[in-house]
Amino acid sequence: MGDGKLDRLLIGNEEYASRHSDLSYLAEGQDPKYIVVICSDSRCDPETIFNQKPGVIFSVRTAGGLLGEKGLATVQFGIESFNNLESIFIMGHTRCGAVTAAQTKLRDITSGRKPKALINPLGKIVDEICANISINDQNLNDLDHAIMDNAIMQCKILFENSDTRRVIERKKISVSYGIYDIATLRVRNLSEFHFQKVESKKPEKEKSKS
Ligand SMILES: [Zn+2]
Repeated sequence: MGDGKLDRLLIGNEEYASRHSDLSYLAEGQDPKYIVVICSDSRCDPETIFNQKPGVIFSVRTAGGLLGEKGLATVQFGIESFNNLESIFIMGHTRCGAVTAAQTKLRDITSGRKPKALINPLGKIVDEICANISINDQNLNDLDHAIMDNAIMQCKILFENSDTRRVIERKKISVSYGIYDIATLRVRNLSEFHFQKVESKKPEKEKSKS
């Protein structure tokens, strides 16, 4: 079919379909247990790295693992629709190109260099990651630290949307973040996100000001 450029995928699909007739029940509907928010990086496919069959993980994938408006809407669809959903996992990954670009831009800005211009909307993604990462020595020099900061910000975005937060709390869906290490193939720095703790910091700061 066509110019043959998709042959590898189509042959793979044929092999997959003939090997997995046991998955035909999925045609009746989906009821995944997990939402995974992760970068589109080709090395981080959630079903593969968590060794799961289709139907278990509802994935939200963008460059840098950013939720943005459409990503948040996709999560909202999932939490509203799936009755057996247990967890949302916001997962950064090592060697993330999108976060590297943001870190490089922040380094350029903080050291007075002119950042490399990027075409839009790609440039907007990098700017969004720049806004997610606190400017400090760790984030400017430790890529994994910046990746974790970016993941934590996505957790906050989930909870800062009151509609999303209400459903997460009502259905007792856990929200966790962590980092997938492309070199070791393992998830590390796994933590559960607790919105209350973060929220309670703000009034304290405001009190000390007054
Ligand atoms: Zn990435």
